[in-house]
Amino acid sequence: MSVLPILRWPDPRLSEVCAPVTGDVRGLAADMLDTMYDAKGRGLAAPQVGRMIRLFVMDVGWKEGAPDPIVMINPEIDPSLDGTVWGQEACLSIPGVAAEVLRPGHVTVRWTDLEGVRHEEVMTGFAARCVQHELDHLDGLVIFDRLSPEMRKELENAYGG
Ligand code: ZN
Repeated sequence: MSVLPILRWPDPRLSEVCAPVTGDVRGLAADMLDTMYDAKGRGLAAPQVGRMIRLFVMDVGWKEGAPDPIVMINPEIDPSLDGTVWGQEACLSIPGVAAEVLRPGHVTVRWTDLEGVRHEEVMTGFAARCVQHELDHLDGLVIFDRLSPEMRKELENAYGG
């Protein structure tokens, strides 16, 4: 297990659509969890460490309680139909930036775990937000891509990009 270097925006790999996972990703998932905890993050997607596959790890509550890591392989979401909510997001690939992002307030998430078992769960609150943020990475999107042009410009300038 090891801590991997995290790509920083605007690395072009953060704008690519990732391919489905086909092989064994146990080692990579373990390294990604090490990397996420080391960076004090709550989620990390494979393209953020330069692996262009549909895999992310998350643990939304570890700073407040016991670690509860989730590894999501080939995840899919159905957004709810009953409205969107604003919430603040940060990204390990865009350090120092926090943005208010509008997203569906709850989502149905389907994913495969490291044992090959398929899961389906309705997620709400910060977990729903985190899943959507990480899934965006697998589609080549970062929080800047979810902002109004004005807000994007302001935050990009603040970031120094
Ligand atoms: Zn991110």
